Amino acid sequence: MQTLQQLTQEAQALARGEILLTAHEKEVARQLHICNGCRYCEGFCAVFPAMTRRLEFGKADIHYLANLCHNCGACLHACQYAPPHEFAINVPTLGPKPWAGFTSAMV
Ligand code: SF4
Ligand code: SF4
Repeated sequence: MQTLQQLTQEAQALARGEILLTAHEKEVARQLHICNGCRYCEGFCAVFPAMTRRLEFGKADIHYLANLCHNCGACLHACQYAPPHEFAINVPTLGPKPWAGFTSAMV
């Protein structure tokens, strides 16, 4: 278990942007940038209004947005950029953390 001091240091490093995104988080950020330009799903759930308040998606943003998704699947069925489109947007597919919605084969 992490100590309070370790958690504080991690939070400070996160705020300074010193913790790099994983490959999976980079893929999540890529998809979020496309969704932010599209915004078709804006009224579907809490994820999209929260997403539109951001221009960049760091690790903390990705984890926050992940916790707003209840993985209902509505945005995948509505998405014109879902596979086989080359944008390959796949928001609600079950997958690895930190995003139960945005996933790809990349982890
Ligand atoms: S999931 Fe698809 S349709 Fe919905 S906002 Fe993102 S890109 Fe647009
Ligand atoms: S799968 Fe997640 S992001 Fe997509 S509409 Fe449902 S709650 Fe929102």
